[in-house]
Amino acid sequence: MDFDLNEQERMVQSAARDFAMKEVMPRAADIDRTAEFPLDLAREMGRMGYLGLAYPHSYGGAGAGYLGYALVIEQICQASMTVGAIVAVSILSEECLYRYGTEEQKSRYLVPLLKGDMLGCFCFTEPATGSDPKAVTTRARSEGGEYVIEGQKNFISVSPVADIATVFAKDDTGRVSVFIVPARSPQFEIREACQTLGLRGMGTSVVYLDGIRVPEENLLSPQGRGFDIMLEAISMERIGVSAQGVGVGQAALDMSIEYAKHRDAYGKPITEFATIQWLIAEMASRIEAGRWLTYRTASLRDQGQDVKHESSVSKLFCSQMAVEVTRMAMQVHGSYGTIGSMAIERLYRDAKMTEVYVGVSEIQRVIIAKNLVR
Ligand SMILES: Cc1cc2nc3c(=O)[nH]c(=O)nc-3n(C[C@H](O)[C@H](O)[C@H](O)COP(=O)(O)OP(=O)(O)OC[C@H]3O[C@@H](n4cnc5c(N)ncnc54)[C@H](O)[C@@H]3O)c2cc1C
Repeated sequence: MDFDLNEQERMVQSAARDFAMKEVMPRAADIDRTAEFPLDLAREMGRMGYLGLAYPHSYGGAGAGYLGYALVIEQICQASMTVGAIVAVSILSEECLYRYGTEEQKSRYLVPLLKGDMLGCFCFTEPATGSDPKAVTTRARSEGGEYVIEGQKNFISVSPVADIATVFAKDDTGRVSVFIVPARSPQFEIREACQTLGLRGMGTSVVYLDGIRVPEENLLSPQGRGFDIMLEAISMERIGVSAQGVGVGQAALDMSIEYAKHRDAYGKPITEFATIQWLIAEMASRIEAGRWLTYRTASLRDQGQDVKHESSVSKLFCSQMAVEVTRMAMQVHGSYGTIGSMAIERLYRDAKMTEVYVGVSEIQRVIIAKNLVR
């Protein structure tokens, strides 16, 4: 067992840290306040290879593996969880295409996505479902060599700026299939922005597919196996969400230590109170546990293993950890932590999002327990 990052992984980590501190940190509060998608940063991350980290050079990826993907997200999330999450969600459409696309689909869609020349979004959630794939009502009707897709999708990140969408819809057999859909079309209608508590600026929106037509070759095979394709893709993003939890937790810890060193009560820095030391120690140990759980899950995937179970374990732990750690950080900051101009307040709101998106914690527990008792 080797718990050390190699030289290349350290370089990836350090370059991401530089980018996060220089380019992302000065923008973080503004992205949260305005909730505007930072398109220029997304394009820059594309140029840097951050939108294709996990995939091989042969398809235009950065060849850094799933561990490289986790390392970069962790660093960027220490500056802004929204910007790190843009990297994380990019993997959803990419994993679908990489694992299930034909060579033609890969060269038309995967290569530009990995190079950052295109942005993709992933359209699964609907008004009646975020957790139950059987409840999907979006329909894809076969008609003269094309599919006509109609239905509403909710909470779709990146959708207002996406070039393509990976859409889950029931085909004529009544089973869920996956389609590659052009997102810059009047029939791919962005209805409204979702004003979420945290992760603001992700472009998360309600989308209406208004009878949009796609050729038959835009179907991802195997037909009718949308649920399996979704599970494969989403387990990769669960690695990304785990890394988000670690990043946001680390940022909260660093801010708490800095704050506590300079805040006096009863004539001494609050770092001298056992209660504050207890909080700092709890935060540090939980973050470290989440970090290695995340790295291990990513490394297993790099070795070619199926990580549906491990990524659920890691996402469940890291999202709970992020919520607890940012809550403790708020406590270290006292009333000042609750003020909008203090970054810790944003971290607290962002951390909560990790427990609900990419599958709520309850669903992670169902996956984990079913797997263990099977
Ligand atoms: C910022 C953000 C970005 C998002 N981006 C995307 C995206 O890009 N693409 C996309 O498709 N979706 C996206 N989503 C949607 C998100 O993944 C879903 O909202 C999420 O999976 C939860 O679904 P739901 O809200 O419908 O919860 P529901 O399924 O309605 O669940 C509500 C609650 O019911 C309970 N529950 C539900 N099912 C079970 C069960 N089986 N066992 C026990 N308890 C249960 C849980 O307590 C759960 O919290 C995003 C959401 C947010 C907030």
